[in-house]
Amino acid sequence: MSDRTPLMAGNWKMNLDHVQGTHLVQKLDWTLRDAKHDPASVEVVVLPPFTDLRSVQTLVDGDKLSLGYGAQDVSPHDSGAYTGDVSGAFLARLGCSYVVVGHSERRDGHGESDETVAAKAAAAFRHGMTPIVCVGEGLEVRQAGDQVAHVLAQVEGSLAGLTPEQLRTVVIAYEPVWAIGTGEVATPEDAQEVCSAIRTKLAEIASGDTADAVRVLYGGSVKSGNVAAIMSQEDVDGALVGGASLDAEEFAAICRYQ
Ligand code: PEP
Repeated sequence: MSDRTPLMAGNWKMNLDHVQGTHLVQKLDWTLRDAKHDPASVEVVVLPPFTDLRSVQTLVDGDKLSLGYGAQDVSPHDSGAYTGDVSGAFLARLGCSYVVVGHSERRDGHGESDETVAAKAAAAFRHGMTPIVCVGEGLEVRQAGDQVAHVLAQVEGSLAGLTPEQLRTVVIAYEPVWAIGTGEVATPEDAQEVCSAIRTKLAEIASGDTADAVRVLYGGSVKSGNVAAIMSQEDVDGALVGGASLDAEEFAAICRYQ
């Protein structure tokens, strides 16, 4: 058993407005409390759209919920003429602890390079938040058997320029693109192969201690029915959950995978 606290993060993507979002957070909290969920044993985080964050903050602070929250993206810049971007300073002010960077829907849909992802990860750290850095191969790469080399190149590029201290606390999410939102989950062994290679890479670019400390999540069609098998893998420390995180009871069941 490692000392890494498992992290379950619900990526709502562009779903749930602030009213629906606060209902979901309330229901998630009740469900976890009913199940006597121990927040110290599994960290639970929601990642709503930007427009929900203020409402989620009010609810979490006001009712002292033991849930964390974060954003799905951040600007690499802190302020200025960047129409449509959202500064890490604003997100930190809203109490965000985490920021997703490099999700495949940003890499593919918005042309984000590893360099951009690294700049966004640095921006998150600059404002005291933890980036969840997403990496993962597409179907063609997987079919060619090149997934490990592809993902490790993304890891190296997306973490470039981070300090040793930052590398120790970063979260990495391995999300094979062919498994995101498709219902096709990687086998536990496939997830372990890549997550373990990521940890070995961290030892190479940082240190063995850093590699032991960093949480590596799996993402891609995680559900209550498959999460336990994935979490049984030595190098998988949690899950980044999309579709299944939109249902409070299903997400709570994922969070209580043991
Ligand atoms: C995601 O959005 O990061 C994700 C893994 O989605 P899903 O769980 O729906 O595959």
